Amino acid sequence: MALRLFNTLSRSIEPFVPWDPAGRAVGMYVCGPTVYDFGHIGNFRTFVFADLVRRHLEFRGYAVTHVMNVTDVEDKIIRRVRETGLALAEYTAQYEQAFLEDARTLNLLAPHHRPRATEHIGDIVDLIAKLMAQGFAYQAADGSVYFSIAKYRSAGRRYGVLKTLDLEAMRVGERVAADEYDKESVADFALWKARVPEDGAVFWPSPWGEGRPGWHIECSAMSMRLLGPSFDLHLGGEDLIFPHHEDEIAQSEGAAVQEAGRPFVRHWLHGAHLLVEGRKMSKSLGNFFTIRDLLAKGATGREIRYLLLTAHYREPFNFTLEGLAGARAALGRIDECLGKLRALGGDARAEHEPALVGRFAEALDDDLNISAAWAAVFEWVRDTNRALAEGSLTPAQAAAGRAAWVRVEQVLGVGGPVEEQVPADLVALAEERQAARKAKDFARADALRLTLKTRGWAVEDTPKGPKLKRL
Ligand code: AMP
Ligand code: ZN
Repeated sequence: MALRLFNTLSRSIEPFVPWDPAGRAVGMYVCGPTVYDFGHIGNFRTFVFADLVRRHLEFRGYAVTHVMNVTDVEDKIIRRVRETGLALAEYTAQYEQAFLEDARTLNLLAPHHRPRATEHIGDIVDLIAKLMAQGFAYQAADGSVYFSIAKYRSAGRRYGVLKTLDLEAMRVGERVAADEYDKESVADFALWKARVPEDGAVFWPSPWGEGRPGWHIECSAMSMRLLGPSFDLHLGGEDLIFPHHEDEIAQSEGAAVQEAGRPFVRHWLHGAHLLVEGRKMSKSLGNFFTIRDLLAKGATGREIRYLLLTAHYREPFNFTLEGLAGARAALGRIDECLGKLRALGGDARAEHEPALVGRFAEALDDDLNISAAWAAVFEWVRDTNRALAEGSLTPAQAAAGRAAWVRVEQVLGVGGPVEEQVPADLVALAEERQAARKAKDFARADALRLTLKTRGWAVEDTPKGPKLKRL
């Protein structure tokens, strides 16, 4: 079965087909963090979901170009910059750094491009100029430039492709200047915001006077610059469907830069939100967690990642602290099983490959059915443990099991157990044994082997020299 994904555009599950005629290259844009504060676990649910999409595509042999922007200028950031008195770049750098650290903690693959909005002002201005030329943008009395939904529609274009909107309720010329606006209000939105005193030093020159970009145009400009005017996949949390992504489509397609018949984006994927203890996360409810908060509570990155990966991306996910404890137990079961497989040693042979990999990948092909994918993993753990207990697993089968896990783990990214470090005094004993063997003092060498054994370690003589392995 080929990969199928839900597409917000058609509201249905569709075969995933990239534009690349060779069917291999895939362009994927993920709306990245707004670096005005530390990211919370809801944000990271969406980023872990995007990471799973990328890893599964790569597993299936696609050559993914993954772009994740950094929103480093928008309303909330400007407010904070004003409050703190820091320079824009100084303020955002600390949270961008924190985001990168959290991303590493969760083992998110680094995107191939991480554009910052402030480094693409030229692309943004060019895109607005194209919209002006098409007649879809206008400068209002406040000096700001807005996108005209009425003009766009009267040119036969559709506004409201990702979400059904009540366009009749819209009053022509009604405008919204804020980056985030009421989900129900359909209004002309700001492309370029004229400089106001509250912006402080945050402004750039443009043909329409000094100012700064609106949030929506940033993503249109960066994604098309790096992936071309028409690309395969665009991801974000469900709150971005409207207005952010709807506006991105209007701006990008309104600029008429696509080949005839091609949309801006072919597949739109949106992740459902994360709740905490059944409620919307909020600082005032005291149920707001950053990754750092959870690490301080003793959780590890792999436990958080595991937990965020347990629910299907289109289902709301209820985060609980008990869930984290469950993640630890589940990972412990996998680690224990792998430890036993490692102890059996052996060399993998193709005829022993378990059904795990095929079942796992087919589950993910089905619109990332992660529950079925985990079920394949845990059934494999159960069957393996049973065979281990019966003593019926051969070393070759054990090695094939480990190899299968390595493949599955490339997609899951929850890491294996940390290889146990050999204590330094035992390394010294092993070296002493090796020296005794060289000196042909075999009695001493055997005595040292026994000492190591009583400490729980076996010495294996390999072509690369002796190795210590846990008994
Ligand atoms: P932001 O940093 O606010 O721009 O958001 C970054 C990403 O996190 C976006 O894709 C949002 O849709 C997503 N997001 C925000 N809140 C949540 C949440 N509670 N659960 C899941 N994703 C979220
Ligand atoms: Zn975006």
